[in-house]
Amino acid sequence: FASQASIALEHARLHQEIQDLAITDPLTNIYNRRGLERWGQYEIDRAKRFNSSLSAIYFDLDHFKDINDTYGHDVGDEVLREVVNCCQRVIRKIDIFSRIGGEEFFIILPETSLPIAFHVAERIRKTVAGQSFTIKSHKLNITISLGVVELNEDMDELAELVKAADQYMYLAKQSGRNQTAYPTS
Ligand code: GH3
Ligand code: MG
Ligand code: MG
Repeated sequence: FASQASIALEHARLHQEIQDLAITDPLTNIYNRRGLERWGQYEIDRAKRFNSSLSAIYFDLDHFKDINDTYGHDVGDEVLREVVNCCQRVIRKIDIFSRIGGEEFFIILPETSLPIAFHVAERIRKTVAGQSFTIKSHKLNITISLGVVELNEDMDELAELVKAADQYMYLAKQSGRNQTAYPTS
């Protein structure tokens, strides 16, 4: 009987591990798109129910193709890990950090208004830009472009929040990269 109990426990542990793997990006160990979908909508629903603020940051590495083309894909992968480390020094444990594309990231900041989220985005941007990454003895300087938005009455779905933040990220790219764009009205 003891061994049956331990088998059941082991099954439960494996089940949890498989669930975790399904929502985790193996390269960076943060949430993947599924993880964002799992927890992001939950936080949006919560913010709406309790009428609390919630903001989001979308960011994309600048001219990342050049890094891969010049130094190789392995170096590019390491850059992605280092950028994630930079962000983790700035954001909180309750923030939902996800890799939603090759070099595109999305962060949900519960209980956070737009001005504070902008401040967080700028800290991330400056941390990344101010650091020189040494990877396989190459010294690399990386910048990112960010879009920040706050959840509003017109938004219900995670996809709407992602789309809005993506549009401001695109504006930051168009305005010259290595900057943060946000709604001004
Ligand atoms: P922009 O400043 O406009 O964003 O330019 P960019 O070169 O970063 O953008 P683009 O979308 O043209 O290229 C993204 C590149 O990201 C393409 C690909 O080489 C690289 N990439 C995407 N996913 C990965 C990944 O998982 N690992 C590595 N090493 N590179 C990736
Ligand atoms: Mg991109
Ligand atoms: Mg890019």
